[in-house]
Amino acid sequence: MLIRSGCSDDRPEPEVLKTLSAGERERFQSFPDPLRAAHFAGAHAEARRFLAGILGCHPARLRFGRHPCAGCGGAGHGRPYLSRPRTRWEFSLSRSGPYWVCAAAEGIRVGVDLERVRPMDLSRLPSAILSGGERRHLYGVPGESRAAEFIRCWTRKEAVVKASGIGIEAALGDIDVGPAQTRPRVTHKAPGCEFDTWWVSDLNTRSGLCSALAVPSSADRSSQEDCPC
Ligand SMILES: [Zn+2]
Repeated sequence: MLIRSGCSDDRPEPEVLKTLSAGERERFQSFPDPLRAAHFAGAHAEARRFLAGILGCHPARLRFGRHPCAGCGGAGHGRPYLSRPRTRWEFSLSRSGPYWVCAAAEGIRVGVDLERVRPMDLSRLPSAILSGGERRHLYGVPGESRAAEFIRCWTRKEAVVKASGIGIEAALGDIDVGPAQTRPRVTHKAPGCEFDTWWVSDLNTRSGLCSALAVPSSADRSSQEDCPC
């Protein structure tokens, strides 16, 4: 397991845009907010450099595709994969503001999520997001820690659903990410995914961020890494 993370510039250098595909540049230009556009471009260019370094090719030569969604079979929101060069390496990218994290593993399914810790009104959350155990955990911690604990649960859930390749239709309340455990084995089955249990771990991040990683429970338990962002 290799993990790279970083913080994008608020204005992309010309080199960054040259690294992107035509489709990525189109998406960069479609953002109404220039800051969001810059962070999108920076993260995608850095993820390309990271993966190209692993594969020994030029970042601009990488091509990506998407598997069908493991939930509905839809083409637009399944798990991304590297289509060129042909490789066994799997990857997952997550961004929050200028920050990004990319995890890559050879022959191992991976999902990663990164979120900014922020104040939240948890009383307004849809009840279906949390399992009973997660709800009890959250309301058992001091009030001032509750939003951060919720976001930690959320990144774990997102890491699992990204690894399984299901879109937003995942029943999040059915995925209990065991927030009291350091590295829980989490059960989550999506109709189109061959794995149904996952090792989930929190990644070390800079203060104010929260990040989690999920791999199939059949993967080597030593594949945990720190996220130095
Ligand atoms: Zn779907």
